[in-house]
Amino acid sequence: MKRTPAQLKLHLSDLAYKVTQKGGTERAGSHDDFPKEAGVFHCVCCNAPLFQNDSKFESGTGWPSFFQPIALSAVREKTDRKLWMTRTEVTCAACDAHLGHVFPDGPPPTGQRYCMNGVALVYKPDEEAS
Ligand SMILES: [Zn+2]
Repeated sequence: MKRTPAQLKLHLSDLAYKVTQKGGTERAGSHDDFPKEAGVFHCVCCNAPLFQNDSKFESGTGWPSFFQPIALSAVREKTDRKLWMTRTEVTCAACDAHLGHVFPDGPPPTGQRYCMNGVALVYKPDEEAS
């Protein structure tokens, strides 16, 4: 269920709120220390499953990077013209939380690089996934 802005403010850290609700970006290298074991990354705001660990790759950017979402319907992509650059913003399809951006310079098989903010994601190992 979608939380109200007031509920989200209580639920999220200041940084997670700024990133997911205001389209912010965390500092590179600050939130990319997730386990390598099989698991699923969920939206920090609404808990929707977004990415699987087996599509995560080492991009060297300091942000968690994936070559595809768990399902095409899990995220929404829209053109972002902030900062006079055209980028493709990625949001949670379930709650509209800002997650990061997608760039067309990723590895096979998709060639896409979903460059995410770690604070927007909650990692759950497979055995705990619901
Ligand atoms: Zn969400």
